Amino acid sequence: MSGAISLSMMALCQKIRGFVLDFSPSNDQSLIQGANSAASPDQSLTPAQWEWQVRVCVQACYDQAERYFLRHFPRPEVSFKLRGGHAGVAEPGRQRLRFNRQLLLENGQPFVDEVVPHEVAHLLAYALFGRRIRPHGGEWQSIMRDVLGCIPKTRHGFDVKKAARQSFIYACQCQDREHALTIIRHRRMGQGQVYVCRVCRQPLRFVRQES
Ligand SMILES: [Zn+2]
Ligand SMILES: [Zn+2]
Repeated sequence: MSGAISLSMMALCQKIRGFVLDFSPSNDQSLIQGANSAASPDQSLTPAQWEWQVRVCVQACYDQAERYFLRHFPRPEVSFKLRGGHAGVAEPGRQRLRFNRQLLLENGQPFVDEVVPHEVAHLLAYALFGRRIRPHGGEWQSIMRDVLGCIPKTRHGFDVKKAARQSFIYACQCQDREHALTIIRHRRMGQGQVYVCRVCRQPLRFVRQES
């Protein structure tokens, strides 16, 4: 990402971040430095604060879109339970955005700046043009570029080695609990090994693979 075009969205998110979480003024220099520090894990915020950054950026994208199109868009539910190599998923049917919490915590601000506009643009494109458009077609690209001021990249460059290791999702009887298993454990399950949830004591059952 060259930074120049996407800076406006990032600046928007950073501006809100500065307002919500600290009182130090953000200037252009600090924004540019932030854009170049993608490789090192960002531990300046707690996991809960990073989730908050994502929510704030979702809001900022919607605000931007509503100013641009002069109409209201329903806000999506935001979840952080996506696992595997995907950074984010937009589910227009459920009006939901799912983000990969591990990749968020490993990558911090570059994740927020890159993944949030990408996924919000999917929901906006479907809301504006219906479900029959191509996911990364002209409608989506134009929303990324013209509305959110971002480069319409279709693939992220985050290191997924660690995140992809635990991509076999199992469920138990607990409400709202998922278990992410490694491929080794997944294979053992296939060979008859039983794993139980420590909380509800029920055997895990396979739900899906996220890779
Ligand atoms: Zn996409
Ligand atoms: Zn359980």
